[in-house]
Amino acid sequence: MTAVEDRYGRRIDYLRISVTDKCNLRCFYCMPEEGIPSKHHLEILRFEEILRFVRVAAGLGVRKVRITGGEPLARRGIVDFVAELAAIPGISEVAMTTNGTLLKECARSLKQAGLHRVNISLDTLDRDKFHRITRRGRLEDVWAGIETALESGLTPVKLNTVLMRGVNGDEVLEFARMTVRRPLHVRFIELMPIGESDASWSDSFLPVSRVREAIEGEMHLVPVAGKMGNGPAEYYQVPGAQGTVGFISAISNHFCSACNRLRLTADGRLRPCLQDRLEVDVRDALRHGEEDEPVRQAIVQALCFKPGRHHMTDGWQGQERLMSDIGG
Ligand code: SAM
Ligand code: SF4
Repeated sequence: MTAVEDRYGRRIDYLRISVTDKCNLRCFYCMPEEGIPSKHHLEILRFEEILRFVRVAAGLGVRKVRITGGEPLARRGIVDFVAELAAIPGISEVAMTTNGTLLKECARSLKQAGLHRVNISLDTLDRDKFHRITRRGRLEDVWAGIETALESGLTPVKLNTVLMRGVNGDEVLEFARMTVRRPLHVRFIELMPIGESDASWSDSFLPVSRVREAIEGEMHLVPVAGKMGNGPAEYYQVPGAQGTVGFISAISNHFCSACNRLRLTADGRLRPCLQDRLEVDVRDALRHGEEDEPVRQAIVQALCFKPGRHHMTDGWQGQERLMSDIGG
């Protein structure tokens, strides 16, 4: 079956799944230092429930799945889950977004289980700054994860770098230079006013246009031909470089007209838009009854609710959810 369309004619074939709202780091723009109040484990979808959901979604045309969180590698049983996910008929790609700190130990098993590639979050190349941003992480663990991902063939390895004025704006040239000598695909992402970053957002926001200008002042960038993923990044390359530089302008130049995704939260809500508070409960449908029809109906309902665009600059409007909860 081909992908279903929403009421704006967008083909929805991409699902992001938050498998846990917990994380081993506390990036200051994402999570409070003390962490988040623990949800009862019964509130969180079991892996079998997620797999059933994906089977139904695949029947409606979902083809690509990204596992995220929280920190997905912090959830026990994740490798077996990946294997079962990758075996679902109709699912052609399974990817993961991770902070990379636990990746060294499991990259090879993940590849064997059927994971295609990883995006690894890395906001700085400086050891001390990394510790300050994540409030507890060790940069060397992430690098060990990156190297093992490359060796294991979880490629292309993309690095997600959230831009923050006064934090990492001074490092963008160093990131871009790194792509010349390493097969790494750095994606500069605009900070979004979500959860923890809502209050201080306007002081920290750094538009990708400024970063691109800064890089182009130093090096020649040419657009990369062809598609490099399922998302909205625009990719460039220094001629002859092994990697690429991508820009994701979620705020300054939103790309909602090309949005192809739904999000499943760790506690079983379907979220049609990252920013919009509207959600459809699928946990009940998954838990009560063997019939797939209520699950299918929930997906169709979420598609009907999918707004034409986000209104991110209006802020987070007191929503309780954090990025880690929704699955960024
Ligand atoms: N823990 C994993 C990780 O860090 O890659 C996966 C979950 S994390 C919520 C997914 C992505 O969301 C990360 O790349 C993170 O940097 C990004 N993110 C979190 N809060 C954000 C914000 N306010 N604006 C932009 N990106 C954000
Ligand atoms: Fe954890 Fe990822 Fe949020 Fe950092 S961005 S606190 S690693 S969920």
